[in-house]
Amino acid sequence: MGKYDVALIGAGIVGLAVAREILQRRPGASMAVIERESEVARHQTGHNSGVIHGGIYYEPGSLKAKLCVEGAARMYEYAEQHRIAHERCGKLIVAVRDDELTRFEELERRGVANGVPGLRRISAAEIRDIEPNATGIAALHAPNTGIVDYTAVSQTIRRELEDQNVDFLFNTEVQSIEQDTRCRLLVNDSVVTATQTIVCAGLWSDRLARRSGAPAEPRIVPFRGVYLRLKPTTDPVVNGMVYPVPDPALPFLGVHVTKHIDGGVMVGPTAMLVPSRDGYRLRTARARDIWDTVTWPGTWNMSRKYWRTGVNEIQMAASKRAYVRAARQYVPAITRSSIDNSFHSGVRAQAVDRRGRLVDDFEISQIGAVSHVRNAPSPAATSAFALARELVDRIERG
Ligand SMILES: Cc1cc2nc3c(=O)[nH]c(=O)nc-3n(C[C@H](O)[C@H](O)[C@H](O)COP(=O)(O)OP(=O)(O)OC[C@H]3O[C@@H](n4cnc5c(N)ncnc54)[C@H](O)[C@@H]3O)c2cc1C
Repeated sequence: MGKYDVALIGAGIVGLAVAREILQRRPGASMAVIERESEVARHQTGHNSGVIHGGIYYEPGSLKAKLCVEGAARMYEYAEQHRIAHERCGKLIVAVRDDELTRFEELERRGVANGVPGLRRISAAEIRDIEPNATGIAALHAPNTGIVDYTAVSQTIRRELEDQNVDFLFNTEVQSIEQDTRCRLLVNDSVVTATQTIVCAGLWSDRLARRSGAPAEPRIVPFRGVYLRLKPTTDPVVNGMVYPVPDPALPFLGVHVTKHIDGGVMVGPTAMLVPSRDGYRLRTARARDIWDTVTWPGTWNMSRKYWRTGVNEIQMAASKRAYVRAARQYVPAITRSSIDNSFHSGVRAQAVDRRGRLVDDFEISQIGAVSHVRNAPSPAATSAFALARELVDRIERG
């Protein structure tokens, strides 16, 4: 089917950013971007919150901490350069109870250590100056946090790559990768060969890794997140974004109120284990995905650890009232009647190890000439250009 210098699997924002980084370093390299769907950004990249994160939450020294701050700066630069709609609307993380203050201070410590631009602690009165409808006893204000349309970013990268003669092989699923003197990618009923292969397969990253000789861990367990849309109003309920203080034991940020680049305001998401890796609708179930989830010991170990959270999330998913209750703690102006009937959903690729631990940091591995992005959860869209730089640096170091 084709012979290339580089085969890039997965046309989400991470794969596209990696393809761009390689071509910047090796102009003229022949490259194929192979994608099972008919367009770019059909999965996590096109179903996320559209936030350019500031880099507050992450353990200092982690890849997330290093790459989010750098990635956000590069994402703004890219959006400005290519005139992609974006806004630096700022974000508040609001503490509403005294018992949240220890976790709040830890977030502040992390944010400062990570070099989040402009981050500062503000008082209850200052919260109302920035977000008149929000309330709390203290907040962290991150003025550099913003919003963008990641699908538009992905489409722009696609055009850039096509201008450099990259072949996009859509509707083409890579089944397995073998290596001898070259990488041999089995696709549909044919073979693509390449000197170098990079796999950025998001929700399916573990499957392709296992089929090409990489370790079985971590496994991907799909978590569905649903956002409810607020009815449009002339005076939007938030100017930017308002988030709660998250539970440090979980890699989820809690139900937040987020302005979107289309002008809408969303409340969400939930985080619920679902029976399909493309389970954007609750009724979608796939035998293969269920089998992979239930046969992985990590799923059961994780369920034992987090069953209480799971019950809360099921309640939330079943009732708009529960969403409203969560959001009203810090934006009391939101009521049941503020909620529209439409919703937006995404499925998060959550990497889980055998012991049931949720893998928090980005994970990249390399076997010979094949590199795998094994875990690229949020903020990987924000970090995409920096993650790409990191990955290509590692390839070059060998
Ligand atoms: C609900 C939700 C909200 C989020 N909010 C944010 C946010 O506000 N800000 C942020 O920075 N991050 C956010 N994230 C995280 C972010 O969206 C992801 O980290 C990022 O999109 C990952 O990009 P990716 O390219 O790795 O994966 P994906 O976008 O999932 O792309 C992977 C691609 O690989 C393709 N593929 C898989 N297997 C194969 C195969 N065998 N052959 C060919 N193609 C294959 C898939 O079809 C897919 O197109 C959010 C995620 C979710 C789910």
